[in-house]
Amino acid sequence: MIEINVEKYKELEPIYSNVIDDLFQNKINSFIFGNFDKLIKVKKNRTIVEDTINEKLPQQNNVVEFFNLVNNWSGEKKLSVRMLGELKTVSLNGKAKQELYYDILNNLNKVLKIELLNYVNSYMPLDKKIDSLTQLWTASYEDIRTIVYSGNFYPKTNKKTVYYKLLHSLYDFMTDKYFLKLEEYDTSVEKLYIAEKSIKDSEKKNYTKLANILIEILNMNICPYCNRNYIVSRNDKLGCNLDHFYPRSNYPMFSVSLYNLIPVCSTCNSLKLDYKFNCSPYDSEYKANEVYYYQYTSLENNIVKEIDIKYLDNNFGLKQDFDILKIKDTYQIHCIEATKFVQLKQKYNRKKLNEICNILNNEKKNGPKTDIEELEKLIFGQSIEDTELNSISLSKFNCDIRNQVEKADNSN
Ligand SMILES: [Zn+2]
Repeated sequence: MIEINVEKYKELEPIYSNVIDDLFQNKINSFIFGNFDKLIKVKKNRTIVEDTINEKLPQQNNVVEFFNLVNNWSGEKKLSVRMLGELKTVSLNGKAKQELYYDILNNLNKVLKIELLNYVNSYMPLDKKIDSLTQLWTASYEDIRTIVYSGNFYPKTNKKTVYYKLLHSLYDFMTDKYFLKLEEYDTSVEKLYIAEKSIKDSEKKNYTKLANILIEILNMNICPYCNRNYIVSRNDKLGCNLDHFYPRSNYPMFSVSLYNLIPVCSTCNSLKLDYKFNCSPYDSEYKANEVYYYQYTSLENNIVKEIDIKYLDNNFGLKQDFDILKIKDTYQIHCIEATKFVQLKQKYNRKKLNEICNILNNEKKNGPKTDIEELEKLIFGQSIEDTELNSISLSKFNCDIRNQVEKADNSN
């Protein structure tokens, strides 16, 4: 598990929030289209619709006429289009009909949003109640964690409610969409919004999926969970999944929260499933190099037989997460890389490097002397910075094995 520098998300936050708000609005509208007949069976909703119509049409018979029409449309998906068409029997001109239709939609939309907010707040701890769902889209990882651990999610999370389904499916709605590419983002908030699925193939090259945008912003190539697999796309095939750190099956309100979405490889994502992990790469306290390291534990005739993981700090609960991801088992195939390194170091140990240095420097009359660090870089490669861990495959493993081999060499 490698930490992700969240500073890079700060600029994205307001833009992301706007996009999700917009999508959320669309999602609720399409829900109202698809469920209009069911919605108006609830007395309160029916009253809202009636009041809206009466405001526009004072004659009572128009309301009856309207509901007769709606009842005949039951099960109709394209209610929006038909509603506009069939409203012709109601004595209004085209523009007024359209206004009436949008008024009904907006009023139902408001009610639904209030009810959703109440639903979400029923799971929130007392001191974390929210005023608007927008607060959830860019809530920090630390805030989300506080809510998860002090909220009352079990066993109350009722998967059958409309609100659960709406929030849970927001993510699918979002990942269905193509987004304008990153370079075009900063010019305006409107520009970053979303092309519909129907955009032409020829135009698709200018659009991308959300996961690609996130890894581009974070400058990540490698899965932060395993630090092995590449998550960049090849041509237009996505190489990256977005893992819900707190699974959306139990925490649907965080289904599109930026800091609950972790760009990972498909293998890690399919192993994690609905497990609730302890250790998030977005945790600002977490630093991989302070929490664990890889080491070889068994060496026979300079051949590494086993890779182990040592934990320096158990507070992050990383071991349980790694067990689910099968990290230790997976890393056994890298005995071969560790062996190569051990053998190279055997050949070019400190003593040998000192000898080479001396020979080189004795030959040289003028100019800078060769030092041992320079030789090490030539033979073993450049060392990897902490900020590069998410860009280079096996970076953590290679650093740790190199440290171990160097320590062994120095103590000889
Ligand atoms: Zn992975």
